[in-house]
Amino acid sequence: MTKITIAIDGFSSTGKSTVARQLANALEYIYVDSGAMYRAVTLYAIHNELFYEEDPGLERLVAHLPEIHLGFVFDPRLGYSEIHLNGENVEKEIRSMEVSERVSQVAVVREIREKLVELQRSMGKDKGIVMDGRDIGTVVFPDAELKIFITASPDVRAKRRYKELLGRGEQVVFEQVLKNIRERDYIDSHREFSPLKKAEDAVEIDNGEMSPEQQFEKVLHLAKETIEQSL
Ligand code: C5P
Repeated sequence: MTKITIAIDGFSSTGKSTVARQLANALEYIYVDSGAMYRAVTLYAIHNELFYEEDPGLERLVAHLPEIHLGFVFDPRLGYSEIHLNGENVEKEIRSMEVSERVSQVAVVREIREKLVELQRSMGKDKGIVMDGRDIGTVVFPDAELKIFITASPDVRAKRRYKELLGRGEQVVFEQVLKNIRERDYIDSHREFSPLKKAEDAVEIDNGEMSPEQQFEKVLHLAKETIEQSL
């Protein structure tokens, strides 16, 4: 069967990763969460105390880039891959509020984006991949056969994220989560390199009123249709 490349982009906390992972499982494709890569670099910067007010361009972090090794390791029990930073599974740590509050600042740095984009392209060189993020359809895989752009209002997204953080036992206030979502939306869509925007040929899905099942059905249908057209 012909394998295609599927790019799923959109704002924070739209549930992109969940639907991307379900789709990859259904098609037996590789799934890559590109946001996890930016989060892992952020975690490295936190662990190594590389955030300084007097270094807004994160030059010290850039100097450390050759020492940052990222990889996805498949866990057969879970049925999906988790991110490893320098050999250590950091999947849980990268979802903390502290990482969320710093990640967009890290993601504006050109050298960091270049390194991660190169890695992402190498993961997708044989197609048969579903990757989600902000610039996958516009920059990483501009030739992807299927591009999906997912949206929902900031309020809907903050409610989902708030529930998820509480579920993981983090002490958070709803307003703080909403503020973080709005700030990331702004920084992600206004940055100089690879800003978040819908690719011209992407299919837009507003999932504010959709159940996860409805959303999955829709993307699976789009994917099957695209695969058939690519035969
Ligand atoms: O998808 P997630 O919310 O985990 O991504 C975390 C952050 O990583 C985003 O807010 C964005 O700043 C950055 N990112 C990016 N490009 C991507 C994926 C994520 O800039 N392809």
